[in-house]
Amino acid sequence: MPEDYYEILGLDRNASKDEIKKAYRRLARQYHPDVTTEDKKFAEEKFKAISEAYEVLVDDEKRRLYDQYGHAGLSGQFSGGSFTWDDFSHFEDLRDIFSGLGGFGDIFDMFFGGPHQRREPKGARQGESLRYDIEVNLEDLLEGLSKEITIPHSVECPSCHGTGGKGGEIQTCSECGGSGQVQSVRSSGFGRFVSVSVCPKCGGEGQTYKERCPDCNGSGRVKKSSKITVNIPPGVEDGARLRIPGAGDAGFRGGPPGDLFVVVHVKPHETFRREGTNLWVDLVTSYPKLALGSEEEVPIIDGGKAKLKIPPGTQVDTVLRMPGHGLPPMGGGPRGDQLVRVRIHVPKKLSAEEKNLLRKLGGLEAHKGGSIFGNLFRR
Ligand SMILES: [Zn+2]
Ligand SMILES: [Zn+2]
Repeated sequence: MPEDYYEILGLDRNASKDEIKKAYRRLARQYHPDVTTEDKKFAEEKFKAISEAYEVLVDDEKRRLYDQYGHAGLSGQFSGGSFTWDDFSHFEDLRDIFSGLGGFGDIFDMFFGGPHQRREPKGARQGESLRYDIEVNLEDLLEGLSKEITIPHSVECPSCHGTGGKGGEIQTCSECGGSGQVQSVRSSGFGRFVSVSVCPKCGGEGQTYKERCPDCNGSGRVKKSSKITVNIPPGVEDGARLRIPGAGDAGFRGGPPGDLFVVVHVKPHETFRREGTNLWVDLVTSYPKLALGSEEEVPIIDGGKAKLKIPPGTQVDTVLRMPGHGLPPMGGGPRGDQLVRVRIHVPKKLSAEEKNLLRKLGGLEAHKGGSIFGNLFRR
């Protein structure tokens, strides 16, 4: 049965927020593992218990649930139904409490260290994250695609299982007794202070090896090329960064691996230009077709062509819309449109008959107060 949070902090149930903070401050200092006169393990447990109680009681909503339902009311508030250090959101309060008191920082590294360093073996460190650039075609964006890539990265050394010791043999560091830390005691007006520093012999790992692993030279990691399948979503944006957790370099001494970031570059297309989920395309046609109206074949990103009606009297530079012929949004969904800009091709070489017809047409248009070319260029 977990202890009552009010009892842990020595408070009655009507305690004000201020009283909760004061009680926590007092107890946190008393049981801070670096300064306590109590047994270190006991102090650490106590410190965790008072921090948990504080975390709940200082938060109005959590306190209300606790008052009403007890510990059961908080399941679901904390991951897995019980308190973990990942839930601890009052880190800054704690910093305040200990700020200005030199030497108190270590506990935060111990309890709150980097997000990947909690509860890891000593000396454990996350591996490096890697970047890989990949090029895709505009057409690939319709459905997305799976692509197998080869990543040169480091993996845990198989001969020593990442320990760095030959045959995986390691021993506890004689200097620090496996804690990875060495302590020095100094006295001041406030009392006895213990400052903690990284063990110089084992570099904080708490372990050393008799003989260095020859395959990884003691690093615990070896280079390897791995094949990894990358799933590129439909409609991916140019420059999008896809994260593949754990596919980076192996961690050190049991630490988690880094991530792999795949940066997607969408190749420019010679026919289509992308604008969000819409695609732009130019349609080059002739004056008679625009004037009289026609049906044209327009290339589409799905491959092949689709028919497009050109209404009579369509002007040059008009944009005609082909709904649903664009791209899906990132991750998929209804497709955008294809936008067709109407252009005109003016022939450079004409047959005698064509010249005659155009002159005739020009003469007719002159009576209406303009010519073909006059109309074209006046707009
Ligand atoms: Zn090795
Ligand atoms: Zn050591």
